[in-house]
Amino acid sequence: MNLKNKTNEILNMYNIRAKKKYGQNFLVDENILDSIVSGAGITNNDIVIEIGPGLGNLTEKLLEKAKMVIAFEIDEDMCNILKDRFKNNSKFVLLNQDILKANINDILNEYNKEVGQVKLVANLPYYITTPIMFKIFESTSSISSMTIMVQKEVADRIVATPKGKDYGVLTVTTKFYGEAVKLLDVPNNSFIPAPNVTSSVVNINVVQKYDVKNRDVFFRLVKAAFSQRRKKVINSLENSKAFDLSKEKLQSILKDNSVNENARAEEIDIQTYVNIANELQNAL
Ligand code: SAM
Repeated sequence: MNLKNKTNEILNMYNIRAKKKYGQNFLVDENILDSIVSGAGITNNDIVIEIGPGLGNLTEKLLEKAKMVIAFEIDEDMCNILKDRFKNNSKFVLLNQDILKANINDILNEYNKEVGQVKLVANLPYYITTPIMFKIFESTSSISSMTIMVQKEVADRIVATPKGKDYGVLTVTTKFYGEAVKLLDVPNNSFIPAPNVTSSVVNINVVQKYDVKNRDVFFRLVKAAFSQRRKKVINSLENSKAFDLSKEKLQSILKDNSVNENARAEEIDIQTYVNIANELQNAL
């Protein structure tokens, strides 16, 4: 039986439907599932964190490769199905929790005793893609990579380069925490129900390369710079009131960092944002 029929059969057997409010679109294409798992580079020494296992189609493949899969699922109906589906699999840890409220570090401390790397793999619920990404970036340094399915439009922003229309806060934030590559685009008919958008799988290798004196200042700067992306960056910084500094001082900091007085936020690369943030920190 193909995976599409199997998935429909599970939904019928438990008499449930995909819930829109939880962003439930189940992946039913074996080739794409295999590409996600191989793109994540999982070895039998790794712990995988899966967000939103749903009916378990991706989980099943992850369990074949990983040492352990710790899955966070908010929906109790899904949890009941998952408990049945993997009841004999000792590698599977299911947590009926909202990932945005979970204490990931505590959970990792409990399970990650003497293993290799922790890799995050997820077909993310699209309504909370960026909050989840930011939470993972901010809350743990023990995750070595993230392989995630997101809307194509979000993937394009993640991997964008300066001067393009997609380059923005999400690009700079992701770059700050790691190196991102898009692995593949996924048509909407690979899911049931089919979402309205094309999706993409992105791999982010978590490596912190940038030496920032104060992260809060750095992120405040980036958000303020892009807050009015059509305006000159100097005006966006001034209008945002993110920093209690005169326009002249802000201008001289930009100049010190070779930022042209007419430049817009999208023209500035991440290393320059880091340098500006470090100079701002000294001036504050
Ligand atoms: N992994 C499955 C697959 O690929 O077929 C399902 C992916 S579906 C796009 C997203 C999953 O995330 C759903 O199972 C949904 O219930 C779950 N989810 C939604 N919000 C969540 C949250 N805040 N915390 C944990 N899981 C959540």
